[in-house]
Amino acid sequence: MTSYQEQFRRYLEERGLKVTRQRLGVAGALQAMPGHHSIDALRDRLREAEPGIGQATVYRTLRLLGEAGLAVELRLGAGASRFEAVQAGCQPHYHLVCRNCGAMVELQGGLPELRRDLAAHYGFSLEGQDNCLFGFCAHCAGIS
Ligand SMILES: [Zn+2]
Ligand SMILES: [Zn+2]
Repeated sequence: MTSYQEQFRRYLEERGLKVTRQRLGVAGALQAMPGHHSIDALRDRLREAEPGIGQATVYRTLRLLGEAGLAVELRLGAGASRFEAVQAGCQPHYHLVCRNCGAMVELQGGLPELRRDLAAHYGFSLEGQDNCLFGFCAHCAGIS
């Protein structure tokens, strides 16, 4: 078991939730794939180890990983989401997402700090964890 899976196992145990091979399998698959992935992509990855795993199980496990602070969900609208593992040494970051082709660019630094500073400055409790900025990439906007 990787230390990522170990952290997840501890999180589940502390809350009296079941530690199952499938849950640990989903955690392992997400951790092993850098970047942002759909539920289907994760299921593909799990196909050999957990052939019977359903979409609902994968999704519920990803939600639990999110609650444990081990994954983030990027909501792309129309019910589409991508999931990304949060591992040691990885910083919170925003993404530029193209509405046309789905291209995604990770933004390093800046915005999470700005968000935190603004909230502190105005004594404002910001809602949500939105970490996507939507628009059109240079190619799709016809600039390239
Ligand atoms: Zn595009
Ligand atoms: Zn990202």
